[in-house]
Amino acid sequence: MASASNTPNGKSKSGKLHFVIVGGSLGGLAAGIALKALGHDATILERNPTPLLHDQGAGIVAGGHALEFLKKYNRCKRQEVAVRSDRRQYLDKDGNVVHSVKGNHDMSSWDLTYYFMRANFDGTPSDYCDVPSPDPAHGKTVHYHDRNVTDVVSEGSGVRVY
Ligand SMILES: Cc1cc2nc3c(=O)[nH]c(=O)nc-3n(C[C@H](O)[C@H](O)[C@H](O)COP(=O)(O)OP(=O)(O)OC[C@H]3O[C@@H](n4cnc5c(N)ncnc54)[C@H](O)[C@@H]3O)c2cc1C
Repeated sequence: MASASNTPNGKSKSGKLHFVIVGGSLGGLAAGIALKALGHDATILERNPTPLLHDQGAGIVAGGHALEFLKKYNRCKRQEVAVRSDRRQYLDKDGNVVHSVKGNHDMSSWDLTYYFMRANFDGTPSDYCDVPSPDPAHGKTVHYHDRNVTDVVSEGSGVRVY
């Protein structure tokens, strides 16, 4: 159970809010990183039983919005998150190219994107990038795994999350 409560108008005296985010994959982490940078506190509740998510796919297209997001919020020293590919190829089970589409795409990997986001959200270390030093203007963050959210109930000026 987690709760997020604030003053009657929904804000703490400093204007900070405490957000509870359900789901700690790329979407939840992106929301958490942006809120943290705005000075708000954020708690992520992820139902996965292990502390880190794994193997959500291999290469992924890093679209324009994802790249813009990382350019704005990524505070790791390492900035490169994608490589340019000039075609997409579809292979059969023997590895032969059966279809090829030309076109520039920025390619990344799910793991790399995830670990970049964890480094920026809650300082989780990995081989992908260094952990950014804390910024005193940022909000506090926490990431809990093995937390299956079943209900969200309004309570006073906040919510209680079960
Ligand atoms: C085959 C495939 C290929 C893709 N390729 C690309 C690509 O190339 N480029 C790209 O940008 N996107 C791609 N996507 C889309 C991308 O994977 C999704 O947009 C992205 O993962 C969505 O992230 P999300 O955090 O919103 O949702 P999800 O990744 O679905 O994460 C939701 C999280 O919430 C948790 N959760 C759910 N319910 C609860 C609960 N009740 N309590 C606690 N936790 C909960 C889940 O365990 C999960 O970790 C692809 C998707 C698929 C399926």
